[in-house]
Amino acid sequence: ELFVQLTLSRPLLRGVAAMGFVKPTPIQAACIPAALSGRDICASAVTGSGKTAAFSLPILERLLHRTSGASRALILTPTRELAAQCLGMISSLAQFTSIRVALIVGGSKNLPSQAAELRTRPDIIVATPGRLLDHVTNSAGVTLSDLEFLVLDEADRLLDMGFQDEVMEIVKECPVQRQTLLFSATMNTKVDDLIKLSLKRPVRIRV
Ligand code: AMP
Repeated sequence: ELFVQLTLSRPLLRGVAAMGFVKPTPIQAACIPAALSGRDICASAVTGSGKTAAFSLPILERLLHRTSGASRALILTPTRELAAQCLGMISSLAQFTSIRVALIVGGSKNLPSQAAELRTRPDIIVATPGRLLDHVTNSAGVTLSDLEFLVLDEADRLLDMGFQDEVMEIVKECPVQRQTLLFSATMNTKVDDLIKLSLKRPVRIRV
């Protein structure tokens, strides 16, 4: 199977081609059609499997179908480095669209300038949990109330790194009516609890 056989819009296929991707990886082949159909997804997938494009492409496709002035997708990752890599991949895949992506992580960039960026309502927010929650709690005009897509990337690491409370707070701030995609290298009871609390009848993908 090739990317051109997936039901992706032309600008996204151009982005995929610009990255040099021809064939979907197994996680992409399984995840993209299921996510395009609107289902929640729970996938066991490690870094290197192509999971970032597996969740980014269906979200980008669904965002393209309807425009809105809101932030509609949130991707939570455990570390700044992963968030930056994810932002890079999404920016590349979306380079032939007008979709805007914001990186919201702790560290050098100051809170007021991040808050200002969030108030411009980027279509997609890629964030680490602590800093995002800081904004949701303390930055005027920043809410998650328009989110349609939530990705919990590297769920096992999110929990191992002690972000359980922050992640649960963020999930609670998201609309109940949403599509949630969870990726984890390993499964354990903590991940199972998060799955029960955040996913609805998920398609299970193991590659
Ligand atoms: P990830 O698992 O998302 O961290 O991706 C691992 C690496 O695989 C990244 O460097 C991607 O650029 C690359 N990659 C993702 N999907 C494909 C694909 N379909 N064909 C070739 N390389 C890919």
